Amino acid sequence: MGPDKTISINGAGIAGLTLALALAKFGFRVVIAEQHHEISQFGAGLQISPNARRVLNELGLDKALCAHSFEPEGIDIFRHGKPDPLSQVTLGQFAKDRYDGTPYAVMHRADLAQQLYKATKAFPNIEILFGATQTRVEDLGDAVSVIIERDGKPSYPLTARAHLGADGVRSVTRTDVLGGKPPQYTGYVAWRAMANIEQLSGILSTERTSLFWGPDYHMVVYPLQQRKQFNIVLVTEFSLPLEDSDTPEISNKSLRKNNRLSSIMESISDPWTAWPLFGVKTNTWYKGNVAILGDAAHAMLPFQAQGAAMSIEDAGLLAAILASETDNATAFGKWQNLRQPRANKVQDQSQKNAFVFHMSPPLSWGRDAVVSAKSAQGHLERLDWIYAHDPFEGLVGPQALTN
Ligand SMILES: Cc1cc2nc3c(=O)[nH]c(=O)nc-3n(C[C@H](O)[C@H](O)[C@H](O)COP(=O)(O)OP(=O)(O)OC[C@H]3O[C@@H](n4cnc5c(N)ncnc54)[C@H](O)[C@@H]3O)c2cc1C
Repeated sequence: MGPDKTISINGAGIAGLTLALALAKFGFRVVIAEQHHEISQFGAGLQISPNARRVLNELGLDKALCAHSFEPEGIDIFRHGKPDPLSQVTLGQFAKDRYDGTPYAVMHRADLAQQLYKATKAFPNIEILFGATQTRVEDLGDAVSVIIERDGKPSYPLTARAHLGADGVRSVTRTDVLGGKPPQYTGYVAWRAMANIEQLSGILSTERTSLFWGPDYHMVVYPLQQRKQFNIVLVTEFSLPLEDSDTPEISNKSLRKNNRLSSIMESISDPWTAWPLFGVKTNTWYKGNVAILGDAAHAMLPFQAQGAAMSIEDAGLLAAILASETDNATAFGKWQNLRQPRANKVQDQSQKNAFVFHMSPPLSWGRDAVVSAKSAQGHLERLDWIYAHDPFEGLVGPQALTN
């Protein structure tokens, strides 16, 4: 296949693999450079909302994802120091019916990455070069020249129509090729741990997600039934640097006031891993024949559980537009116009959630009154703009994805 049908991608994460799969379905040859020596197992649980699942289903992944994910019945929201839920959001069949049969599911990031990777293997036109140590990119005007350096292997040169940086929050495509800024620390650390289902089954529902709001912290716990584990994320406000990454920073006073929270913390025997949360805000998503997507373009706080979802939406739409527009400037411009306002809005919503989740009295009293007055339907209605979104709406051509 000639350079006009070849696309180079940096990073085989969620955005990179989704993009490769979608491009391959449109008939492109795809070459991905990945720094790791295999598909990375890093990360923990991800909530995959209907807007992301819609794209993944278009790519033919529905069955594989059903086998590796769990659909929680709902979300119980607990406020600081109170034993009973303040509010209960209904998901399960109710959400599926609301979003045209598309579920709200939870799964491990490694399982999602593996299923995407497995799907790419069916395409001889996708090549993944693991162990990439450096990718040199030169924009030739009518194409890009890319040289991929690899651990212990000869370098791999190619000429492509475009080079796409799906290389995550610390994207070198953003900083080194597009001249963008490094990511900014948000002031929050996510402490992640896993616990066996039995360890917490007397404390939390094994069928539902539990969300705890408190002054200066929040915690999300959901069951990954296929792995017989709970995924636990505790988020605290934190000044870097981290000194002891094994101990979540949460005051004893907060724990004493919340029996369920202290029982959860006591039940965790595996070490916690600390994830300082960094964000990216840039208007420059492309220059010439190079573009960035996913966390590389808009890494956000995970408080609306939408980072991976936005990466998946970005990827599906970018592939569809590159397939229908032969000129990169037109394709990238159209794609950015469609994607950037939405990514910014979701990024802002995630930031607002930080404020809402971590409120102290008396502000939290007002919040609690508003939240408890909402019906199960009301909770989802408020978020329809995120979950009901179809990134392909109005586009000609994306039906080729399901072929
Ligand atoms: C605590 C927490 C909870 C989250 N929960 C959710 C959730 O519930 N739902 C949700 O939708 N999102 C969630 N997210 C966000 C989600 O994990 C990210 O938004 C998503 O993984 C971004 O995908 P990506 O492909 O852009 O980047 P990544 O998944 O980070 O992939 C980047 C890839 O690029 C590779 N790479 C990097 N640099 C180079 C290089 N120089 N050369 C070659 N390869 C390179 C990396 O090895 C990696 O494979 C959460 C994040 C956190 C921290």
